[in-house]
Order: sequence, then structure tokens, then C-alpha cells
Amino acid sequence: MLTYSGPAKLDGLVCKTCEYRIVNEEIKVKSAPSENWKEVVELWQCHDEDFSQFIDLNTKLIKIPDEVCLIRFNQIVLSQKLVEANQVQGDPVICKGCNQITGTYIEGQYCIFIDMIQNLRQYFDFSKDVLAIIFNHGLDNLKQDLLFINMDDNKQIIKIKVLGSHMLVMKNKAKQFEKSIKVLYNQIDNTNPDVFELLTQFNKTFKVKESEFQILKQILEEGQKFLHKKLQTFKNGLYQISYLIHDFK
Ligand SMILES: [Zn+2]
Repeated sequence: MLTYSGPAKLDGLVCKTCEYRIVNEEIKVKSAPSENWKEVVELWQCHDEDFSQFIDLNTKLIKIPDEVCLIRFNQIVLSQKLVEANQVQGDPVICKGCNQITGTYIEGQYCIFIDMIQNLRQYFDFSKDVLAIIFNHGLDNLKQDLLFINMDDNKQIIKIKVLGSHMLVMKNKAKQFEKSIKVLYNQIDNTNPDVFELLTQFNKTFKVKESEFQILKQILEEGQKFLHKKLQTFKNGLYQISYLIHDFK
């Protein structure tokens, strides 16, 4: 889970390019629950308790209080009331001032890219957060692959498969060790719409901006430096091995 460290209240959400007010009222900003909270909800439901105040038990989506926005990785999720009051619509969401992509519609919720928000982006470090997402996914869930879709070029995807986790990697000469995960990754361009649909149904999917897509590519390419050349493998010319080493304290 990524923790938001910016101010708890903001005077709306402002487009970084044209200063259009995407949300034009005071909002509370909070971190979204961890990626695994849906599993927790399922456990709770077995106990016949009433969580309907917080969670829509049919969709398993959290009910966001009217004045609240939730930070989820590279996006901020708007409450239904904020969506209606500020007429947020479309997928992708287009800024009414500068016509740039500012957000997206995922699982019944409107989300705005934090990188597009003038008064929020300084509290956001994509490189750090995307590593945490990949690392945590690797520790928790080896069944699904991770997909990062480039929102500015909808047919471009980076697919990441976690091969193993909890590996220990020597950190330096003092023989300190760090946890590491091993991933395969490949970039898929010009995805056929049917393949796209299948991929997003069966894998954990994140939508990212073009600039974020390029940062992720760079991180994965740099990851290979940790592995000896002889150990790098290629499968059908698509896959490369990469180590992600990260020290989460
Ligand atoms: Zn704008």
C-alpha cells in the first residue's frame, strides 16, 4: 500500500497545463485501501456483518464519501458526488480547458491522473511508486500478470510477469541482503482489440500516461544491469529478464 503524504485538504483539483478547475470545491484527500482489500471484504462477508455503509457488496467497490478523493497509485479517484457536481465524464476524461487526457473511467469510478493536477503532482513520485506496486504484486500475487497501458497510445502495453519473489540479493560488500523479485517483461504494440480485452480481464491492469510509460520502461531496462549477461534469456524475442531490487523499510 502506498501512503499519501500531501495535505489532507485541497482547494479543488487544477489542470497543470491550462489551470482549468477539474474539481471546483474543497476536497479531502486520503490514501486508497491496499490492493488486497477486496479479499478482506470477502472474508468479512462470511461473517454476515453489515459493511454496506462502506462498501457496495455487489461491486465490491468502496463507497467514497461525498467530499473525498482517494489516491490510488498514479490516479485520484473521485466520489460520485464530485463527478456529478463537476460534470466529469468520458473515457478518457478530457480537460475542458486544453483538451488533454486528464483521467480515465475504471470499474465504475472516475480517476484523474495525479501527474496532470497542478496542486497535487509535487507529492507524487512515479518511479518510487511503480516499483512499490511491482514489488508488492510480486510478493502477494504470482497468478496474475501486471499490465501497464499507455493511455496516450491505447495500443501500447507493458506486460510484467513475476517469476519468483522473496529472493535475497547481496546488497554490498558488507554482505547485507535485500529482498528482490524477478520479473519477465515485454512491450506489446498495436494490440488487437480482442486480445486487449482478454489481457485486461485476466491481469491486474493499470493505466498510465505516456511520460509514466517511458519511466517504467527505463526502470525495467535498468533492472537488467543487476543480472549477469549470460543469465538473460529471450523467449520468442519478446521477453527479457530483469531484477527489481528494492529496499522497503
Ligand atoms: Zn487543461
